[in-house]
Order: sequence, then structure tokens, then C-alpha cells
Amino acid sequence: MTHLLDAENLVIDYVLADRRVRALDGASLTLADGETLALVGESGSGKSTLGSAAGRLLPSSAEHRSGDISVAGESLFGLSPARIRQVRRERLGFVFQDPIGALDPTMRIGRQVLLAQGRRADRATIARHLERVRLRDPDRIMRAFPHQLSGGMAQRVAIAMAMAARPRLLVADEPTAALDSQVRQDVLDTVFALAAEAGTGILLLTHDLSSVSRRCGRMAVMYGGRVVEDGPAADVMNAPRHPYTAALARSVPGNAPRGARLEAIPGRPPVLSAGSAGCAFEARCGFAIERCRTERPEATRVDGRTVLCHRAAELARDRALSQRGVT
Ligand code: ATP
Ligand code: MG
Repeated sequence: MTHLLDAENLVIDYVLADRRVRALDGASLTLADGETLALVGESGSGKSTLGSAAGRLLPSSAEHRSGDISVAGESLFGLSPARIRQVRRERLGFVFQDPIGALDPTMRIGRQVLLAQGRRADRATIARHLERVRLRDPDRIMRAFPHQLSGGMAQRVAIAMAMAARPRLLVADEPTAALDSQVRQDVLDTVFALAAEAGTGILLLTHDLSSVSRRCGRMAVMYGGRVVEDGPAADVMNAPRHPYTAALARSVPGNAPRGARLEAIPGRPPVLSAGSAGCAFEARCGFAIERCRTERPEATRVDGRTVLCHRAAELARDRALSQRGVT
């Protein structure tokens, strides 16, 4: 089956003047048409790098080492710049954390939405795009410049632009992190409602677990540049099968409180360098054995998820993850 998005063993480094940072260390992830997937994981785990790779929007310091990523069966790394622009225009939409930065400060909103749609449209069509993201008085907003909008309004405009061409996949990278907490849930609701209506798949990159399980069918957890657990969102949150996910879930007791962050896990995230052996979580894991230090875990299927842990099957059998913590 051809997936809408298919990342396979993707390895990406950022090459800086004095060092090389491994951001993705064999990341694999697939998404079907219309599927909603939350990609969670603490800061630096590689979420944005993977999300940007899905549109080949990586900065020039990023170096693709190995592995592949494709959209609707088309491998992105092999494409010409013209073709990649076309794939982005026709199939992909992106929404980032900073809405003002995503808009052109010198251009009226109406014109920006028109350009995002990629073809001629009358005033009424542009107004409809703005109404769909629940912006009132679209005529006034069309005449406005970005600096005249609040953060929440600007993000709604950015969402309208990303969705104007009815993409097959919307990549939303912390789309509400810069907004006031009252408008966050509203803006997320708008994104999901709009995508459901258009049949658009969503890859939502977030720290905020509370926004995830209710809205996304699937959840993937990143750690150290790899997706370490991936499965139905409720199962992953309620009955995790990777020790790192278990630690995350414990840091969000009961129904995830608003703004629950992942930094509550003890220990520090790994600093990856090329060719590190073993499991990246080993130093923080209460279940680590010798093998975890020396051998990289490969993907195994456990209870309907994909898990990257040598002990996943055994821990699931013993129900150990619900009883013991991380060191
Ligand atoms: P956050 O939750 O903070 O947004 P993230 O999960 O999105 O984090 P990435 O931004 O993908 O993580 O970063 C993965 C790794 O790559 C980190 O070690 C980060 O410091 C590094 N990195 C990201 N962007 C760059 C860059 N432009 N130049 C150098 N290193 C980078
Ligand atoms: Mg990020």
C-alpha cells in the first residue's frame, strides 16, 4: 500500500562550523490518507526535523545521510526543486508556531490567501476561506496587514492559507504554542474540523499531551531522533509499551492537565553523535540491561503498536511498565 507519508530509517545531521548534530537517527513513520497523528517527544527529540523533512523544508545546514521520505509514493530527496515546489503546493500544507513570521508583513491578508490558493479566485472565495477558520468580518481581515491582527487571528489566517489548496497532508508544528491558553483549544479544534471536512491528514507536532489524545487517532513518540513507540493514541497514552512513553504518561496523571509538558521526566535528553551504539534511552531507563548499551533496538510489534525496545514484549507480559518507573 502506498502511504500518504512514509519516512523510512531517516538519518539527518545538522552540520555546524565546529560539530555535527544528529537530529534524526533512523526515524521511521507512516501516515495513511486522512489519518491524524500526534508526534510527541521532549525538546530536541527531532519532531521539527522530521516534520520539515516531509516538505523538504530543512535548512541548508541539514545533511541527509541515509533513509528516505516520500509523499504519496514519491521520494522527496530525488526530486528537482521545481517538482518539490509542486508537491508542496498540491499535496502539503504547513503551519508553524509563529504565525506572524509565516505571513508577509508588506502584503494585505486577502492577497496572501489568494496566492496560497494557487489559482484565481474571487473575493467571495477568499472570504469563505477566512470564514472556515472562524474569522469574523472577513472583508475587514482581507484588507488588513499582518501586524493589525492578534496572534490567534494571524494563526487562523495561516491555517486558512495552509488549507486553501485542500492539501492531502497538513504538518502543524506546535501551531498553538505561541498563543494564549484560552484560544489554543479553539484554534486546534478549527484545524481538526477543517482537515476532517477536507479529508486532509494531520501530522501534529507537539509537547502538549493534553491536546493530543482527544483529537488524534494515532500517537507516535520520538526520543533521540527515532520514533520509539507508535500506535492508537489512547493505547499509547493509557498502556504504554516503551519505558520512555511510560515515563511520559506518568508525568501526565489522569486526564492530562492543560499545558502538561514532557520535561517532567528525570534525567537529561541524549546528545546524539554519529554512530552512537545501543538505545538512546538506556541511561535514563529503569529497565535497561547490558544489551541496551551495546545494541540498537529495532522495531517490534507489541499489542498493536510498533515499539523500539529490546524488552518490550517481556515488559508487556509482566505488566512491568505500569508498576516501575525510570531511574
Ligand atoms: P522542540 O520540541 O524544541 O521543537 P524538536 O523535537 O522539534 O524540539 P528538532 O528541532 O528537530 O527537535 O531538533 C533535533 C536536534 O537537532 C536537536 O539536537 C537540535 O538542537 C538540533 N537542531 C535543530 N535545528 C537545528 C539547526 N538549524 N542547526 C543545528 N542544529 C539543529
Ligand atoms: Mg520543534
